[in-house]
Amino acid sequence: MTTLRSLYSHIPATDRLLRDPLFTHVLSQFGHTRTVEMLRLMQDEARQHIQAHDALPPWCADWANEATSRLCQQTQSALRPVFNLTGTVLHTNLGRAQQAEEAIEAVAQAMRSPVTLEYDLDGAGRGHRDRALATILCQITGAEDACIVNNNAAAVLLMLAATAAGREVVVSRGELVEIGGAFRIPDVMRQAGCTLHEVGTTNRTHASDYRAAVNEQTALLMKVHTSNYHIEGFTKAVEEAELAAMGRELDVPVVADLGSGSLVDLSQYGLPKEPMVQEMIAAGVSLVSFSGDKLLGGPQAGIIVGKRALIAKLQQHPLKRALRADKMTLAALEATLRLYLHPEKLAERLPTLRLLTRDAASIQAQGERLLTQIAPHYPEFELRVEPCQSQIGSGSLPVDRLPGAALTFTPRDGRGSRLEALSTRWRALPVPVIGRSYDGRLWLDLRCLEDEKRFLEMLLK
Ligand SMILES: *Cc1c(COP(=O)(O)O)cnc(C)c1O
Repeated sequence: MTTLRSLYSHIPATDRLLRDPLFTHVLSQFGHTRTVEMLRLMQDEARQHIQAHDALPPWCADWANEATSRLCQQTQSALRPVFNLTGTVLHTNLGRAQQAEEAIEAVAQAMRSPVTLEYDLDGAGRGHRDRALATILCQITGAEDACIVNNNAAAVLLMLAATAAGREVVVSRGELVEIGGAFRIPDVMRQAGCTLHEVGTTNRTHASDYRAAVNEQTALLMKVHTSNYHIEGFTKAVEEAELAAMGRELDVPVVADLGSGSLVDLSQYGLPKEPMVQEMIAAGVSLVSFSGDKLLGGPQAGIIVGKRALIAKLQQHPLKRALRADKMTLAALEATLRLYLHPEKLAERLPTLRLLTRDAASIQAQGERLLTQIAPHYPEFELRVEPCQSQIGSGSLPVDRLPGAALTFTPRDGRGSRLEALSTRWRALPVPVIGRSYDGRLWLDLRCLEDEKRFLEMLLK
């Protein structure tokens, strides 16, 4: 009992701690209110520890240090920078596309001062906030007009609600996709107030299926890009161009949810080709929607390009007001799209394309360079540079892989628990390193590693 009481008496009073010169810095960094709050918490914890273990917790030797580290931890942003070495370039859980420097500067500027978001300086009648972007998008895609919302899911919802509410939308059974989360085409249809008219089968849908489905209730023919899966074998789908021709003949607009889509022909960079927005417009598709932060490499946004009269309906719909993009998104998107006007420099300036176009040999060389520096610090692991296959991610080109190289860590004693411990340790670093555990090894796919110096600082910690 006496020992217990004397243990409790080792818990210093708040006032005494605050007067301690060691706390001067803590107070100036975090302020009186938060420091006191933290000390109360620590005192409670120390009392509970004594009760449970008949001993002071080890950190009681240095209250100032412990309080500082706890307060620092609390102050850490929920959006912490990490090294994405997962092998998935557009990783949805890690925020998809990294922004170009031009986009970052444009956002900072738009945040720092008032901007001409919907303000007309020259009396030329800008109309709405998407006007400037629409001009660039039309220049790039050949479309008549454009509309910007928060993300592509919102774009699909708005397209359907504004042009087909209360009527039927014809979609192939092979394209009733679930993108992830709660985004499923049949559910979005319902939310938009449309009736889904399914045609064809899972593997085969013919032009005649669409034709037979069209009636006086039909508002749209819709194509949905099967972004995250691939049907192989005995298959048939109707291409957008053919559907657009039918739509013209029957006087029914054709809309396409492209998912990622691309504004450049990726095959010129040796990458697998993704459907291009300008091809859809040239084929006569009335409205095309796609994401801002997938292959486009910009901020999260949903972009719809197409016929002027239909875009006007979207702009005037009440949902547009609810789904509109803010000035930061618009600033980043505008700066990103401007990079497309200078295609010769695109692969250098746009991080997404820069990472996707890195060749396997240079990644391999980077791996070997790093290996010699890192290996001596990890004696319990065998380090190797191994070929690997990266993915684009975010539902772009789901089956295609990009050859690259990874730094792999294999436990010399073969114990899986070592891999678990290593990845836990790396996740706790100031800039966490996120890899992938597979085949008894920890893989660090180096495709997305640009800041080697900082990476080495982390791994040699
Ligand atoms: C990714 C995707 C969406 C959703 O786009 P977000 O920008 O993530 O909202 C919708 N449809 C398709 C076909 C997609 O690939």
